[in-house]
Amino acid sequence: MATTQNKDYYGTLGVKKTATSDEIRKAFRKLARKYHPDVNPGDKKSEEKFKEISEANDVLSEEKKRKVYDQFGFYSDNIDPAAAEAAARGGYGGESSGGSRAGRGRSGAGQGGAQEVPFDFSGFDFSGFQGGGKGSAQQEGGGGGFGGFRDVFTGMFNGGRQAAKGPQPGSDLEYQVSVDFWTLVRGGVTRLEITRQETCKTCKGRGAQGGVVECPECHGSGQVQQMGGRMKFNIQCPKCGGSGKIQNPCPTCDGEGVVTRKEPLEFRIKPGTRDGQRIRLAGKGNAGSDGGAAGDLYLIIKGGSHPVFTRTGDDIHVTVPVTISEAALGSKIDVPTINTHFGEGRTQLKIPPGVQTGQKLRLREKGVPSASREGVRGDQIVEVKVVVPKVQDERSKEILRELAKLNPEDPRAGMFAEV
Ligand SMILES: [Zn+2]
Ligand SMILES: [Zn+2]
Repeated sequence: MATTQNKDYYGTLGVKKTATSDEIRKAFRKLARKYHPDVNPGDKKSEEKFKEISEANDVLSEEKKRKVYDQFGFYSDNIDPAAAEAAARGGYGGESSGGSRAGRGRSGAGQGGAQEVPFDFSGFDFSGFQGGGKGSAQQEGGGGGFGGFRDVFTGMFNGGRQAAKGPQPGSDLEYQVSVDFWTLVRGGVTRLEITRQETCKTCKGRGAQGGVVECPECHGSGQVQQMGGRMKFNIQCPKCGGSGKIQNPCPTCDGEGVVTRKEPLEFRIKPGTRDGQRIRLAGKGNAGSDGGAAGDLYLIIKGGSHPVFTRTGDDIHVTVPVTISEAALGSKIDVPTINTHFGEGRTQLKIPPGVQTGQKLRLREKGVPSASREGVRGDQIVEVKVVVPKVQDERSKEILRELAKLNPEDPRAGMFAEV
């Protein structure tokens, strides 16, 4: 009979047994980022580790499952959470267990004097009680006491639950896509390769092929053993649902109904798409199994930069150098816009007299067309940067000295007044 190993879920996530759900969530996220298969393509160890932390998180993040796990040292869907609760309240000690199935089972045993037995089954191997033979012999001899225990544990596991999975929806996928600056501005087509699960063609997603075979997990017995502390529990085999038989798994997909494939993907970028934008491609995520719907594919856009233009939303920012005479006297200068890139030449910008470094001037509707609002366009913001000439010749120096004489005001005067 197969035995499932106990797993230290707290250790796997590196948290204390007293960890709050918030701490568990944080620990899982941190590890998931490290071991996610997308971050470690082809790395089997990371994949294994990712599965482990996912399993630990699956159990510990759900209060009911965690209670069962804390109580028994393992988790199975077949365990009735009420039984775990009853056990946590002080064992199967009859009266206080109220209406739970475990409680009823236990009180039946009460007549046999087993009430004295505390909730410490260390060292007992219950496997015999469900298997027949040994169990029934002891039941006769022991006045039904152990038979009571058998009932207790039968009550803990929801009998008859079928392992047949039925249609399972496919999961969503998320990919980060780098798109260059200009493709985001004017739109275009981007290609990438994604790894996704698609429906297995051999079994058409059913996961099974041909007839019925003996369940490899329980070898046909319908039950597997599970360690709970030092106890051994017989639980219904989760793979076959206790029937001992399973559909012959499809050899192509190993019974999963889906196969993992690398797939080239081409998709259209709308003009004006922004950095960080999330694009949803419905039904392009992982395929579902056994007729379940496919998940969605989310593409997170990572926009490229440009040496001259910086983009904020639909606005374009440019820093433009101007000479001191252009700044002092005012002028009309040519500035590049994104239109320049598309062959529409330069745009003239009026520099007001006395402009200072850092001052921002706006060119209306010279920014990026909005991806979400038809006919709307952002602006281009021009930041002025006054450049000082490196004068070498005497004549220029003379002119500057003369200029200083004509304009004797101290630009730092205000500063001192404030201090
Ligand atoms: Zn089985
Ligand atoms: Zn298949």
